[in-house]
Amino acid sequence: MASSPETEHPVKALGWAARDSSGHLSPFNFSRRKTGDEDVRFKVLYCGICDSDLHNLKNNWRRTLYPMVPGHEIVGEAIEVGSKVQKVKIGDKVGVGCMVGACHSCDNCLNDLENYCPKIVHPFNKIDLDGTRTYGGCSDHMVANERYIIRFPDNMPLDSAAPLLCAGITAYSPLKYYGLGSPDKHIGIVGLGGIGHMAVKFAKAMGAKVTVISYSSAQKNEALEHLGADSFLITNDQKQMEYAGC
Ligand SMILES: [Zn+2]
Ligand SMILES: [Zn+2]
Repeated sequence: MASSPETEHPVKALGWAARDSSGHLSPFNFSRRKTGDEDVRFKVLYCGICDSDLHNLKNNWRRTLYPMVPGHEIVGEAIEVGSKVQKVKIGDKVGVGCMVGACHSCDNCLNDLENYCPKIVHPFNKIDLDGTRTYGGCSDHMVANERYIIRFPDNMPLDSAAPLLCAGITAYSPLKYYGLGSPDKHIGIVGLGGIGHMAVKFAKAMGAKVTVISYSSAQKNEALEHLGADSFLITNDQKQMEYAGC
């Protein structure tokens, strides 16, 4: 049978798409590929919103392909698995983050560094390896090679799990890579946005002493009381900065 987008991508999907740079989303019917041998399809239950979703929505980086379905902190429940899938079974809590594909043959891919693959495929606003567009997690279901699928423990609340897939790994990776989270370290975290929030929680869980650094006291209570930071340094306060040796 002749190949066409419809035969290659026969599974109907419903998403929320930006059609222009206004920032508004509207319902969008599209298709995803059928579940391949190594693929996991999951019902999307939650999807985080990250700054790069917003930049792409508004075409701030001048590379948005409209209609564009955002979302790259995508979590849900596995509903279909390919015959060669090993780590996921139907019903598992799963998710996918910033990657859904790569070449799997370059040095980076062979060393588990697919994020540095020149042919990396992001889950939205990109062209997939088969030449079709990728659409993100603001949709009813998602499909990805199991290599990019994260499996969550059964007791993990999925609404909390979603932000781990971009903001979370962005904070966790340098803490782990540079050994910053050990109990003998006192680290400063500048800003308490999505990534900073995650960084405080990871660093505390790893045993480090944590100071949040911010230009005002607006988030002091959240940092100290809710997230467990040890101290809070206000950069607009000359005395505090001098005391800190800055
Ligand atoms: Zn992100
Ligand atoms: Zn590669």
